[in-house]
Amino acid sequence: MKFSLTLLLSILPFFSMAEAQATYRVFLKFFPEEAQMWGYAVSNDRFVQGNTQVEFTETPDQKIEFWLHGELKIDSILSGGKKIEYESEKVLYWENYNLVGRKTSIDNSALADPNSLEIHYSGFFNPSQARSLSDYMRVDKKEGIFLRSAGYSLWCPFFSVPEIIKVDFDEITVDIPAELEVVVGGKPIMEKVDGERKISAWKIPELEIYDVQITARPFRKRSGQNVWVYYLEDDQKAQEITDFAQNLKKIYFRSFRPVQETDPLYIVQMPEYGNISSNNVIGISGDVFDEFETELYSKSTIAHELVHPYVHIPIDRNDPMAALVIEGFPGFFHFYGLNQTESKEEFDLKKIMLKRQSSYLKKKESGKDWRGNDLPQEKPILEISFDEIGLYKDYFILSDRVGLFLYHLWTKMGDEKFSEFLKELFALSSIDYGTLESLTEKYLPGYSATLNIWLKTNDFPESLRIIE
Ligand SMILES: [Zn+2]
Repeated sequence: MKFSLTLLLSILPFFSMAEAQATYRVFLKFFPEEAQMWGYAVSNDRFVQGNTQVEFTETPDQKIEFWLHGELKIDSILSGGKKIEYESEKVLYWENYNLVGRKTSIDNSALADPNSLEIHYSGFFNPSQARSLSDYMRVDKKEGIFLRSAGYSLWCPFFSVPEIIKVDFDEITVDIPAELEVVVGGKPIMEKVDGERKISAWKIPELEIYDVQITARPFRKRSGQNVWVYYLEDDQKAQEITDFAQNLKKIYFRSFRPVQETDPLYIVQMPEYGNISSNNVIGISGDVFDEFETELYSKSTIAHELVHPYVHIPIDRNDPMAALVIEGFPGFFHFYGLNQTESKEEFDLKKIMLKRQSSYLKKKESGKDWRGNDLPQEKPILEISFDEIGLYKDYFILSDRVGLFLYHLWTKMGDEKFSEFLKELFALSSIDYGTLESLTEKYLPGYSATLNIWLKTNDFPESLRIIE
């Protein structure tokens, strides 16, 4: 697999500092045994039934508009315990995998309780026949349940008016056949088996609504140090992945910051094309799972998600250093960890950074990525705002320029000094430009002017480039 493939990575919840705009309590009951794999439903009834209780942070002062997956219908909407009026229609909707969305509007004067709504819905999630193979989202009798959220398969309402991006998922409760295991994300708060059914509840604070998923299959589970591997059959492979993750955590612990408690990380074996991560859940497609030893993609994805808490320095979202600290550092330092594992040879840093350098130079010149898509506007690292992190992190500047900068520091300082520098950097309880400048000066006297070029300009002079 090509290394330049964008890693669809996400910011862990404890780095999200913007306030949530609503609180959701979601309850979903799935009947996958009634779902066929042929793209049509046998039951005319439904294979998912659920409701979402929404608590708005601010009372909507206008008409309310939200979206659900196109195969769902609204059963009823309540506010303050009373049924209220609404209008609902199926429309073409690019943000959903089957290109059909259900749009529902409510006049805010209809709300009995101005701060809350309870939306009941039911229907189907048939496989996509509209877009690409990577739209593997569906509820399937044989395979299980594979749902993402806004942008793919809307199993909870996505409000466009008022626009609600960040949600406190106070509780997501999933009711499934007992033989399945489910991963939602965040932290599990309850699980019980009740006869033929299993009920599993999860809590995810402050999350972008694009960044949540539900996966259920007849999984086996394996864990160590809060890293969970959910897999189908291959116990040995699952153990290798668990060992790999634990080993990396040890390396991060001694190289960066002695973090005691980390959030759980879920590594989940997905169907084909399921290499997609959201929040603290990493999806690995079956073929990548089988080829784990040789797949740089899965190793670096896991390494990246694990490194976040170890290279974090508390920072305000409005600080110009926020993007650098929140996604810039993690975007490089997982390589530093991988470089200390047995995979050292595969992760030849110089080769990787040379590739980044040439793709960065191409991107700078063309303004386009390797697929020919337009990139966001080029700007200095310290001018990328918190809200722009998602725009830059896997594509431009935060992924390449920041890596080239940190690699440059490493090669200039040498292994030993760089290691000391990192320990001191990640022991900081706050950071600003001056602190970073004096710390680099301490290990690399005279570096100030170079630091300024890296962080405050778009320049990439020959003198800073890696030579083959
Ligand atoms: Zn990340």
